[in-house]
Amino acid sequence: MTSKSKAQWQQMAADLQIESRAFINGQYVDALSGNTRQTINPSNGDVLADVANCGAEDADIAVAGARAAYESGVWSDQSPDARRAVMVKWAQLIEDNADELALLETLDVGKPISDTTGSDVPGAIRTIRWSGEAVDKIYEQIAPTDKDSLGLVTRLPLGVVAAIVPWNFPLSTTAWKLGPSIASGNSVILKPASNTPLTAIRIAGLAKEAGLPDGVLQVLPGPGGSMGAHLATHMDIDGLTFTGSTPIGKKLLEYSGQSNLKRVFNELGGKSPNIVFADADLDKAASAAALACFYNGGQTCTAGTRLIVEESIHDEFVAKVIEATKAWQVGDVLDPATTLGPMVDKSQFNTVSEYIAIGDGEGCTRHGGDSNVFPDSGGHYLNPVIFTGVTNDMRIAQEEVFGPVLAVMTFKTKEEAIAIANDSIYGLAGAVWSRDIGTALSVAEKIRAGTVGVNNYFGGDITVPFGGFKQSGNGRDKSIHAFDDYTELKTTWINLE
Ligand code: NAD
Ligand code: MN
Repeated sequence: MTSKSKAQWQQMAADLQIESRAFINGQYVDALSGNTRQTINPSNGDVLADVANCGAEDADIAVAGARAAYESGVWSDQSPDARRAVMVKWAQLIEDNADELALLETLDVGKPISDTTGSDVPGAIRTIRWSGEAVDKIYEQIAPTDKDSLGLVTRLPLGVVAAIVPWNFPLSTTAWKLGPSIASGNSVILKPASNTPLTAIRIAGLAKEAGLPDGVLQVLPGPGGSMGAHLATHMDIDGLTFTGSTPIGKKLLEYSGQSNLKRVFNELGGKSPNIVFADADLDKAASAAALACFYNGGQTCTAGTRLIVEESIHDEFVAKVIEATKAWQVGDVLDPATTLGPMVDKSQFNTVSEYIAIGDGEGCTRHGGDSNVFPDSGGHYLNPVIFTGVTNDMRIAQEEVFGPVLAVMTFKTKEEAIAIANDSIYGLAGAVWSRDIGTALSVAEKIRAGTVGVNNYFGGDITVPFGGFKQSGNGRDKSIHAFDDYTELKTTWINLE
């Protein structure tokens, strides 16, 4: 990754050649129907590309090709070391093209360039490389049987896996899915979100260049409701890994039941608590509270959207959070100094605006929220909003807003803080801030969520699992545990007598 000025990024954007076709059986191809769908740059409304809009007929070709590749053993039967080598080379090619990928992601999603160069792209490289490096280091098991038998417990690939990902972290979630699923020998069909397909399309070609056999990775841009649902109900797909909203995750479980009981692993929404005790480092906690809610414009599944503050420090702490929020103001996404881009589209902007009105109507006090920013840009921008005087039964405390809207509540006792934190249908993430290790760890243990930070928010890296409790889903991305979602446990019982 090189460091570039705004003018250099603009020049690179002007010169960019965008691949916008599907990737099926090792080739970039148009949809059979010839249909395309525009993908838009959310920061200015410009059309970036006319992307192949695949349908059921394209999906069937992709599934058949993926199945044939799997059954042939061209990838699934390669040694772990051989698969490792291809994955590592793929990661290297992504790294060699890091600037282009960061720019593509910034243009397609409306993410600030400092986010895509600092996090999305390096994170994807590390995920693909780590998954590849892991695969020749995983040992299998021999069961503690009687002497006259040998029980082997091994893991086999599922076969053909569909991966469906959202628009808020397209490249990151794509890498989280593709790293372990491909490394463990599956053939994989990736469906990006229809408004953000470009980086997934680009890295498919790089996988081929790295030596991944044709058919092992198919990328099918297309509509979720029809083509995505066709994949989810397909009789020849063995596994489905999903990142997206809770309502769609519920549908996928139904589709599985209606079709072939394909394994479904869901990574869904959240409404995560961020608990601050009076004895915390309040300056650090305040800047992290702003980051937790406003990073990526709040369009983050793990966003810390419920700030639960010990009552005795409420006013002082809220003043610090308001101060820290000055670091989160909208700007040009190609300017490396910008921290906040636009909402992904008008519909998301409208949803968030409705929630701001709901918060006003619920009688909370609003700080910030000037929505009339960059009026002539063609993008839909929102500056951060903080609501104080929130109670946890309000809609803005219970529902996933997916915008830069923070709900602040108070607690008097540790038990009350835990009860508020857990009073949610979700359980994706959370954090607790205290200098008292007993307080911090006992609260962290009681929060019903897949990831909890102690004196940090958004902590963690590829070495630790990521996923939800409750209606935040059941799958686990990242770490060695992610391989569980892409493999079947198999017992082989051998008689030694
Ligand atoms: P979404 O559920 O609307 O769409 C996600 C994907 O599913 C898209 O590719 C879409 O085309 C596809 N899809 C839609 N309907 C479908 C159907 N009937 N059958 C099959 N596929 C279908 O979610 P979104 O708006 O793209 O993303 C935002 C949501 O994702 C939020 O709820 C957020 O919390 C969640 N998310 C979760 C994680 C996590 O790891 N837990 C990470 C990022 C985002
Ligand atoms: Mn787009």
